[in-house]
Amino acid sequence: MRGRGERLETLLGERGLDRMLVTDLVNIRYLTGFTGTNGACVCGPGIRVFLTDFRYTERAATEVEGWEAITVEGDWLASIAERLEGKVGFEDDHLAVRSLEKLKEKLGEGVEAVPAGGTVERLRRVKDAEELAAIEAASRIADEVWEWSVERGFAGRTERDVARAAEARIRELGGDPSFPAIVAAGPNGALPHAEPGERTIGNGELIVFDMGAQLDGYCSDGTRTYATGDPGAEAREVYGVVLEAQLASLEAVKAGASGEDVDAVARKVIDAAGHGKHFGHGLGHGVGLEVHEAPRLSPRADDVLEPGEVVTVEPGIYLPGVFGVRIEDFVVVEEGACRNLSTLPKELTLVD
Ligand code: ZN
Ligand code: ZN
Repeated sequence: MRGRGERLETLLGERGLDRMLVTDLVNIRYLTGFTGTNGACVCGPGIRVFLTDFRYTERAATEVEGWEAITVEGDWLASIAERLEGKVGFEDDHLAVRSLEKLKEKLGEGVEAVPAGGTVERLRRVKDAEELAAIEAASRIADEVWEWSVERGFAGRTERDVARAAEARIRELGGDPSFPAIVAAGPNGALPHAEPGERTIGNGELIVFDMGAQLDGYCSDGTRTYATGDPGAEAREVYGVVLEAQLASLEAVKAGASGEDVDAVARKVIDAAGHGKHFGHGLGHGVGLEVHEAPRLSPRADDVLEPGEVVTVEPGIYLPGVFGVRIEDFVVVEEGACRNLSTLPKELTLVD
C-alpha cells in the first residue's frame, strides 16, 4: 500500500510522535494490505516494519507492500518493544489494557507509550482512487440487488426471507454483505436497527430496506423505503418530509462543510414538520474498510469534510408502533458539491 506509511509518518511528525504502534487489524490492512488475523506495524522516520507469526509468513510475502515483513519466532511483545523508541503512539481504542501493561514492562529506557487512538483512522477518511473504485463497485452491486429484490416483490414474504435472499444475491454478484441486511416492515420500521424477523410483510406497508455490499474489503451502505401498495396519507406525508430533508442535506455536503452543519440542514426540515423527536440518530457517517468510520455527520460532529471522503446521508423519521422511513445515499465529498454513488430512484416506489 504505497504512500500510506509516508502519510502516517507525516501525521506522527505533526503530533510529536517518534513511532506509532498499529495493532488494529483494519488499520493494518489499510497500511500494508495484509488480510490475516495476527499482525502489528511499527512506523516512524525510516522505519516501516510489519510483524506477524509463522502462520502468515507466506500471506505477508504476497500481500504486504511497502513494509518490511518480519516473522516473529520468539516473544511477540519483546519483538515489538525492541523496535520502539522515544514517544510511541499506541491505539488506546484497540489495544487491550493487559497487553499494554505487558508491553510497557518490555519497553527500553526512556521509551514512553502515549495514547494515539484514531491516528490511522484519520488517514482512512480520505480515499484514494483505488479505494474509490472498490467502493463504487460495491455500491453498484448493492443497487443491482435492490432492483432485483423489488422485482421479486415483498408482500406475503417474511422480512427474513427478503433479507437472506438479498444477501445471497450480493454473494452471487461477487461481493459479500457489508452487514446483515435490515428489512423492517410496518411497525418494525420504526426501530432504526431492527433485525429481520418472521413477520410476513402485508399490503399497504412501508418497508425500510438497508443493506450494503463489500468488495476488496470496501463497504457500501444505503437504504430505500418502499411501500407494498398505497401506505396511506400519513406515510406518504412523512416520506415526503424525509425526502426533502435528504435532498436538502445532500446539497450541503461539500468540502469545508462541518458534520454538524450538514446534519443541521436535515434536522431543520424534520423539526419544521414536527418530527424532530422522531429523528433520533445522526445524519450520516463515513464508510470505507468499515461500514461506520470517520467522519460523522451529527449534531456534535466537528469533523470538517474533505474531498475524497465517502459518507452516507440518511435522515429518517420513526413513529413508534406505526412505521419508519429512512432514505440513505452514499456519496463522495468533492469541492463545492458531492458525487452521489446511489443510482436508485428516491420517489416512493410502490412494490407488489
Ligand atoms: Zn448508514
Ligand atoms: Zn445503512
